[in-house]
Amino acid sequence: MPFTLHGIPVSRGIAIGRAYLIAPAALDVDHYLIELPQIEGEIERFRAALALVEQELDTLRADLAADAPTEMGAFIDVHLMILKDVMLVQETIDLIRTRRFNVEWALTEQLERLTRHFDEVEDEYLRERKADIEQVAERVLKALAGASPAALHGGCDEMIVVAHDIAPADMLQFKGQTFQGFVTDLGGRTSHTAIVARSLGIPAAVGVQQASALIRQDDLIIVDGDHGVVIVDPAPIVLEEYTYRQSEMALERRKLQRLKFSPTQTLCGAKIELYANIELPEDAQAALDAGATGVGLFRTEFLFMNHKDRLPEEEEQFVAYRRAVELMNGLPVTIRTIDVGADKPLDSIGGDGYETAANPALGLRAIRWSLSEPQMFLTQLRAILRASVYGTVKILVPMLAHAQQIDQTLDLIREAKRQLDDAGLAYDPNVQVGAMIEIPAAALALPMFLRRLDFLSIGTNDLIQYTLAIDRADNAVADLYDPLHPAVLQLIAHTLREAKRAGVPVSVCGEMAGDPQLTRLLLGMGLTEFSMHPSQLLEVKQEILRSQIKALEKPVADVLAAYEPEELQAALGRLALA
Ligand code: PEP
Ligand code: MG
Repeated sequence: MPFTLHGIPVSRGIAIGRAYLIAPAALDVDHYLIELPQIEGEIERFRAALALVEQELDTLRADLAADAPTEMGAFIDVHLMILKDVMLVQETIDLIRTRRFNVEWALTEQLERLTRHFDEVEDEYLRERKADIEQVAERVLKALAGASPAALHGGCDEMIVVAHDIAPADMLQFKGQTFQGFVTDLGGRTSHTAIVARSLGIPAAVGVQQASALIRQDDLIIVDGDHGVVIVDPAPIVLEEYTYRQSEMALERRKLQRLKFSPTQTLCGAKIELYANIELPEDAQAALDAGATGVGLFRTEFLFMNHKDRLPEEEEQFVAYRRAVELMNGLPVTIRTIDVGADKPLDSIGGDGYETAANPALGLRAIRWSLSEPQMFLTQLRAILRASVYGTVKILVPMLAHAQQIDQTLDLIREAKRQLDDAGLAYDPNVQVGAMIEIPAAALALPMFLRRLDFLSIGTNDLIQYTLAIDRADNAVADLYDPLHPAVLQLIAHTLREAKRAGVPVSVCGEMAGDPQLTRLLLGMGLTEFSMHPSQLLEVKQEILRSQIKALEKPVADVLAAYEPEELQAALGRLALA
């Protein structure tokens, strides 16, 4: 029976495919499709892991102290039995063969199916066996982790991830294009999960409450990423309509490719810079492919996220930054210092920091955390500075609000340079340092920033969150997250105006910069540097090529003078036609 669910549109386009439901535990493993010739090897890998776990359990049993409670032996026997159970072993192998899942994926999938059955069993003893199965599967997964081959991303073009929630770090594993779309129960438009979905250029809807409860594994679904609509089990005529729209959009995208090499300037000849936002060094290639003239925001925290028990060393960070800088081949690369906290927790930092805070978005986040961990911060600064030898590097600092924070940061940058001098390591002495303007206090105290820093970058995602007191990752208040709220527009316009007056370069690197419906508004406010995900770049460029700055001035002034919703809508309407 067809039904429709509504959520928040976060990444444009239409995806049509089978639902793949991901349980939270299953997110910890890689998901990729294997090719036909790899099936036997994958099954072999599974058997080897099973044999290893069997050996482990045998040893455990043999080493049991003579006076150990009898239940201990019985417990190990149960685990040995489970390890050989057809429901676990044979069904997992069947999934590898029929669905071409990699073994970790097949095993967690089968585990999910088995445990679902257990939840329905009345008998308490049997229900408790669920934990045993999970423990055995975990042992096998650990054994597999010891010998896991690099992920090979197959080309399945018809699976759509459906999950209760996906952490930003977990989204990274989807960078291989195995999936065609995303649907989550939770999340807001600029939650970091949504941002990564957009960077993948894959249609996505978040905040689709109950999606993971109502959609079943393998249901045919349509994700309309433009409207946040998910259609489950669509009627043939609806499917036909969406298939048609999907091909029209693909055609549009191909047409946009023609703009890739044309210079970015308005009809009146004003030159505009289009930079890319990246999460990983390899994303720099997508930036170049889309025609970006630099990286305006490298969110380095993603490098830190998948380190379970430690932070990456200086050398490891340096190699990653150098890679992005070298790929960009002389074009500027703006590397933002680590911005963890709020919806971007770090596995490697225990629970005594921001993770236990009642309001993590207002807590020890971003530069606040960096300044509280000077050794960690100095390590990152040295790594960034060293990468500056290989191209043009700028340092961007998130969430600054106080003069002392700026001064402390600049002191630490000087200290990092001194340490590199002592070690005889090279860096560009003229690396520019800039601040994110993403707290209203910063936007309202600009002279403090303009006097001390080389450039500014407006982080509209957080600026909106903090101006409107809306948690950007909370779908319950997502309808109040409004980039067009007069207070937000005033802060952006004010920042652009004052920076321009002071001769300090300023960009916008929040999601507003990548929304083609806001391009004219930002241009009219005087923005000349936009930074966005590569997948959004050509649409924004198309808007720029069609715009004439002079014609935007009056309607933008009207937008900024509008404090009533109807007035605002009318002014925006005039701006669209200008
Ligand atoms: C922002 O806040 O607008 C921004 C670009 O940074 P992030 O989304 O990583 O917080
Ligand atoms: Mg931010």
